[in-house]
Amino acid sequence: MATKRYLMTPGPTPVPPQVLAALAEPIIHHRAPEFRPVYEQCLEQLRTVARTESDVLLFGSSGTGAFESAVANLVTPGERHLVVSAGNFGERWAQMTAAYGADVDHLRYAWGEIPEPEDVGARLRESGGAKALWIVHSETSTGVVSDIEALAAVGKEAGALVVVDAVSSLGAVPCETDEWGLDAVVSGSQKALMTPPGLGLVAVSPAALAATGSSPRFYFDWERTRKAQAKLDAPFTPPISLVAGLNVALGLLLGEGLEAVFDRHVRLGRAAREGAKAMGLELFSPDDDRSAVVTAVRVPDGIDGKEIVRTLRDRFGITIAGGQGELMGKIVRIGHIGWFDVFDITTTLAALELTLAELGADVERGVAVSRALAAFEHATA
Ligand code: PLP
Repeated sequence: MATKRYLMTPGPTPVPPQVLAALAEPIIHHRAPEFRPVYEQCLEQLRTVARTESDVLLFGSSGTGAFESAVANLVTPGERHLVVSAGNFGERWAQMTAAYGADVDHLRYAWGEIPEPEDVGARLRESGGAKALWIVHSETSTGVVSDIEALAAVGKEAGALVVVDAVSSLGAVPCETDEWGLDAVVSGSQKALMTPPGLGLVAVSPAALAATGSSPRFYFDWERTRKAQAKLDAPFTPPISLVAGLNVALGLLLGEGLEAVFDRHVRLGRAAREGAKAMGLELFSPDDDRSAVVTAVRVPDGIDGKEIVRTLRDRFGITIAGGQGELMGKIVRIGHIGWFDVFDITTTLAALELTLAELGADVERGVAVSRALAAFEHATA
């Protein structure tokens, strides 16, 4: 029998069958009348999921591409920008804004720390402000989900535009784009939005559109895409099948109800954490309901995290993520954004327990699954 596969990474994530079916539909032309209602509905549903009245610009790109659109549109060489990092992705944005010639003020936390609004406010006051504050909502490399509302508030107070990496958070945890005054919210199709990789998106406020700078750009020029989308006419050939798939996926999210989706993610996070702790493992990501995207667990002493990832994949067909950068080999990460239920978590925990025991770790056997199920059942406040 072919090995049954479980994709338990924080992106790409499993794609529901209804979305797969839409992806398998024959290709229609992107200027054909049949595509326009799909495109229109997809853009409308994106606004609903991103909780914004503003445009959500869609690009054929990964999340990094959509983020580069924000950099290319908002950075003029020499301007000061404050980039906050506490892991791999924040550090990527510090590099990217620097590559576009920004005078980058980099507020760099150690990986796994939680950015504090007080620090950001103090930094903005000391430096005399910044054109934009660049922050990561869910730092997928560490499992930390930041308090974007509070961080954005200090940025706004200092007169900065607020740009948010919501690549692994949009559709999993609340992101109130308009209410929190976020000027650019960047995401991608392959995470909580339950669609294959290939679509990047950015919700752009009128203030951000009015503040675009002079960096060279063409494909990622926001105004070009905004104008075309307003006529339901993509400026370039869009990934037609992915747009159709994303439209179905967004319909599934909205059908479940965003609040119910957020609640499910909180309970999935609880299940993963309680199961890991029951085995005797130490969490790396915070033991907190906010950590609803990915659970990062410290690898027990004497064991190589890469070996855990390899064994889970080769023996059990389960793909989890290892640590990135300085955390490589030291943590493993179980993703739970998108099309997940508690049995995905318990399957992974059961296999993790077997794997760790086999690799010689001193783990508590036979309790993780029941503890995880109990944690999932417990209603959120
Ligand atoms: N930002 C975060 C928080 C991510 O988790 C990822 C992907 O893992 C990215 C950015 C980069 O997205 P992509 O790989 O789609 O370019």
